[in-house]
Amino acid sequence: MTQLTVANKNERLPIIPIRDGVVFPGTEVVLTFGRQRSVSAIDAASNFNRQVVLVMQKNPNVNDPTPNDLYRIGTKATIERMFKHDGEINALVRGSERVEVVSFDMLEPYFLGRLVPVPDVGETSDQVKALMNHIVSELRKAVNLGKAVDFLIFMNIMSSPPAGDLANQVANILDIKPQDKQGLLEMNDIKARLERVDALVANEVKVLELEKKISSKTQERFDKNVRESVLRERLKTIEKELGEEENKETKELADKIAAAKMPADVNEKAKKELARLSQMSQYNPEASYVRTYLDWLVDLPWSIKSDNNVDIKQAQKVLDDDHYGLKKVKERIVEYLAVMKLKSRPQITKTSKKEAANPKKTGASPTILCFVGPPGVGKTSLGKSIAKALGRQFVKMSLGGIRDEAEIRGHRRTYVGAMPGRIIQGVKQAKTKNPVFMLDEIDKIGTDFRGDPSSALLEALDPEQNNSFSDHYLEVPFDLSDVFFITTCNVLDTIPPALRDRLEIIHFPGYTEDEKYHIAKGFLVNKQIENSGLDLTKLKITDETIRQIIRNYTREAGVRSLEREISTIFRKIAKEVAEGKKETKTVSTKDLHKYLGPAKFTSYFAEKKDEVGMSTGLAWTEAGGDILFIEVALMPGRGQLTLTGHLGEVMKESCHAALSYVRSRWKTLGLPEKFYQKIDVHVHVPEGAVPKDGPSAGVAITTALVSALTKIPVRRLVGMTGEVTLRGRALEIGGVKEKVIAAHRAGLKKIIMPKNNQKDLEDIPKYVLKDLEFVFVEHMDEVLKVALTKPLLITKSRIEPALQTTPPLQA
Ligand code: ADP
Repeated sequence: MTQLTVANKNERLPIIPIRDGVVFPGTEVVLTFGRQRSVSAIDAASNFNRQVVLVMQKNPNVNDPTPNDLYRIGTKATIERMFKHDGEINALVRGSERVEVVSFDMLEPYFLGRLVPVPDVGETSDQVKALMNHIVSELRKAVNLGKAVDFLIFMNIMSSPPAGDLANQVANILDIKPQDKQGLLEMNDIKARLERVDALVANEVKVLELEKKISSKTQERFDKNVRESVLRERLKTIEKELGEEENKETKELADKIAAAKMPADVNEKAKKELARLSQMSQYNPEASYVRTYLDWLVDLPWSIKSDNNVDIKQAQKVLDDDHYGLKKVKERIVEYLAVMKLKSRPQITKTSKKEAANPKKTGASPTILCFVGPPGVGKTSLGKSIAKALGRQFVKMSLGGIRDEAEIRGHRRTYVGAMPGRIIQGVKQAKTKNPVFMLDEIDKIGTDFRGDPSSALLEALDPEQNNSFSDHYLEVPFDLSDVFFITTCNVLDTIPPALRDRLEIIHFPGYTEDEKYHIAKGFLVNKQIENSGLDLTKLKITDETIRQIIRNYTREAGVRSLEREISTIFRKIAKEVAEGKKETKTVSTKDLHKYLGPAKFTSYFAEKKDEVGMSTGLAWTEAGGDILFIEVALMPGRGQLTLTGHLGEVMKESCHAALSYVRSRWKTLGLPEKFYQKIDVHVHVPEGAVPKDGPSAGVAITTALVSALTKIPVRRLVGMTGEVTLRGRALEIGGVKEKVIAAHRAGLKKIIMPKNNQKDLEDIPKYVLKDLEFVFVEHMDEVLKVALTKPLLITKSRIEPALQTTPPLQA
């Protein structure tokens, strides 16, 4: 806006003080005047062409200012319109030019002052133009950022007014203190004023931006808050829904707990855990642990039992029906069942309370059955039969390779992936608390830093303490006293003595060829025909075929391989039938090659003849008895002894002892003195992959050695066993039963064994004994007499005093 009037030098106009505000030239404002002096001044303005000068007070709080309280630079303005109300005047004023009040001529009833115009200085340079542009764009920014500007004023500014006007108009709408506005009003230089305005606008933009940022952040935060609270609400709804699910789950578990009929303390524990679970959030990882734990608790058969019907006759029948032979074993089992029946509850309640509390004192402490024997002799299947006879469930757990006590007793629940031990797992599997529980391979449990599994096992098995067996995982005791434990193993040696003490050992010695034949004929053949899905009535297998399978395709104490070979035959026949061949068939010896391939084993003696330096020993292994051949070869040398064939320490010692014995008896044996200085001796036991140990081969080694030195062959069908001392005494050995059966199986005719082992023949089936001739010896001389094909050429004079001075033989 251009100035409307040009103030002349002597111009006098009413001066109106303004408390806190500046009216810039070229701008319009509505002002309210209430003070008497101001009202009078406006009234008087009509005399001055409606013109007044508006100046700001230095201090807005001064009510009745004097000229000294006013700034000197003000704005000449025209009162465009006015409105009186209640002694106050609202007036629309328009600033026209900057003036300086140079003197006050009158103070009452209003200030009348003399004034001089203060024109703008400076030219509109490019720099000024640039400044103006910048101010306009900054202002636009400010408006965009939310600065409130009257639309008309804004349009005015946008319509490129002259530089001074622009500065004034923008200054007018700036959000700054009145003092700052006054400062702007007092700046004469347009460029300086523009610069100042520019800085102020820019500052305002900055503030606005900051505000916006803050507000957007606030908004964001607000949004976030809103979002969260919405989600939280939603979650609540979901949780409520899930809660119902959860409640359902909790209820189900509670029902299961009730149905499980646990003992009171266990029930309490389960309920406590359930309460804990129901408190837990769905997302708490512990919840799943607690749930698994509760699942275990409710799944255990706390009070589910099979009827305990021990009918001895029935039991005997079931055992007989399922198994051929094993007469002694069955007898022992039936006895055991009878004792168990006598000791069953009604009996105990008849005893005094004291006795009932401690059944051991009644002298009737039950022991744990332990079936010892090589694989495949029917230990497991007999266990199953016992369960069948008693009408109980059967479970089997293998303990082979267990080294960690936790395998038996479980891991504590704090352990990641914790589980109950095998005993509790087995009970759960049985679904009843009185199953027949077979613990397989108890001779294969080891002991190391992880605790002693066998002591945990003893605790589980021991009838005196197993009514409250504590599993680390369960934390509550479980009553195992109704479980019928049967343990099995191949050897007894490796079972810890504490455990062995509690075992009632039942030996399974292994089968003779004849027994195997009957087992195959009576049980295995039919079983395998059925297993292959074939028709029992249409298939036959000749007796000779069975015998040939036993002889030529198996070499074992049990019947596992035999069963496998029979199953192979019928599987192949089943395939043929499926391919369209007819099912009716009798398997004969001619078919064996087709179904089973060439014979795997030839008879031990088929192509053998009595030889020099080779004797037949009897051995005992985990897989039952076996026979082995001892070979001795002599070579020119210097008295060295070489031993081969994977011999154990004890067996090597036997070889050394044999050599020493022979050397000391050179005369008796008709050998040249120092014969050993010119020869090396090599003792070899074939089948090198099989480890062999023990002292019982002493007799056989010595015999082979004597035979090699004297060149007298050894009778190959004479089996021998026994330990030999340096003086030639034959000492008692173990495993007689298995060895004899193995000898019988191999087709030996005569067996030499130490006299002290005679007692062990009692347990051997009669028909085995019937086929064999036994020679019981006390000394090597007796062995040699029987084993060598020719008597030694011992002249009376050559009899070594050592033989005669041999100490009295052991009884
Ligand atoms: P183990 O447990 O001693 O290793 P198993 O019980 O597994 O042996 O027996 C192997 C197989 O031989 C089973 O099918 C079993 O029924 C059978 N068997 C073993 N002995 C006899 C027997 N005396 N009468 C009938 N079948 C037998």
